[in-house]
Amino acid sequence: MIYLNGKFIPIEEAVIPVLDRGFIFGDGVYEVIPVYSRLPFRVGGHLERLQASLDSIRLDNPHTESEWRQLLASLIERNEPEDQSLYLQITRGVAKRDHAFPENTIPTVFIMSNPLILPTSDQIENGVSAITAPDNRWSRCDVKSTALLPNVLLRQLAVDAGCTETLLLRDGLLTEGSATNAFVIRDGIILTPPKSNLMLPGITYDLVLELAAANGVAYEVRNIAEAELISADEIWITSSSKEVLPVTTLNGNLVGSGHPGPVFKRMHGLYQDYKVQVMRTATA
Ligand code: PMP
Repeated sequence: MIYLNGKFIPIEEAVIPVLDRGFIFGDGVYEVIPVYSRLPFRVGGHLERLQASLDSIRLDNPHTESEWRQLLASLIERNEPEDQSLYLQITRGVAKRDHAFPENTIPTVFIMSNPLILPTSDQIENGVSAITAPDNRWSRCDVKSTALLPNVLLRQLAVDAGCTETLLLRDGLLTEGSATNAFVIRDGIILTPPKSNLMLPGITYDLVLELAAANGVAYEVRNIAEAELISADEIWITSSSKEVLPVTTLNGNLVGSGHPGPVFKRMHGLYQDYKVQVMRTATA
C-alpha cells in the first residue's frame, strides 16, 4: 500500500498525470526514512530536513509535522514488514509545461514503503569497494531534490567498476558519496567534511557525530584533501539504509589494512546499541 494525494491505495493503482512537474522537471524534493520494528528512526530530523528542502525550492509544506507523523504511521501500519524504508516525495504538482512556477497548483504528495534492506554481514565484516570521481553536480547539493541525474550517473560509474559507491571530489576536497556521506579515519580520529551547499546534511552523518561526541571518540569536522582520503586508515560511508559501512578498497587499492578498522568496529557497535535503546524507549 502507498499514499498518494490523500488516499492509501495499492501501488499498482497509483498513477500521476504526465504533466506532473516532478516528471517534467524533477521539480520536487524527497526523504528516505528507515523504520525499525515498525518505528520510524530519527523522524524529527528527516521532517526538519524536508522543511529545509521545501524552503529552498520555495514550495509550501502541504502538511504539518504532526500530519506527516500520522501519515507515516498509517502507512507503516498498512504494510507487512517490521523493518521498512519509507520514501516520501513532494512535487510542485500538475501544470501546463512552463519553467516558471504555476499558480494555485496543488503539490503532489507520494509516500511508499519498501522492505528495509540493510547491509549484509559480509559487507559489514569485509567492507565494500569504492572509486573516486570529480563531483560535477550543481552547487545546491544540500537540497534533497528528486532531480538526481548527476548522482545517478556518478553511482553508475561505481557499478560499472564493480564497486558499491563513488566518492566525490570537488576542487581537490572530499564532499560525499553519490548517495552517502563520507568519513575518513586518520590516526584514530574521525574526520568528515563540514556541512555546506556542497553536500547533503545526512541524518546518519549527524548521528555518527553525536555518538562520537557522547562516547568520547575523537572527531574533527574539517575539509579533507584527496591525498588524505587516498592514504586514510579507514573510510566509511553512511546513509539511512547503509547505516555505517566500511570502505576497504578505494580505486582498486586497499584502505589501511584492507579490513574494517577498530574505529569502525567501535562506531558500528555504538550505532547498533543506539538503535536498540531507541526501540526499547519507544516501546517501554
Ligand atoms: N548524501 C547523499 C547525496 C544522499 O543521497 C544521501 C542519502 N539520502 C546521504 C548523503 C545520506 O543521508 P542520510 O543519512 O540522511 O540518509
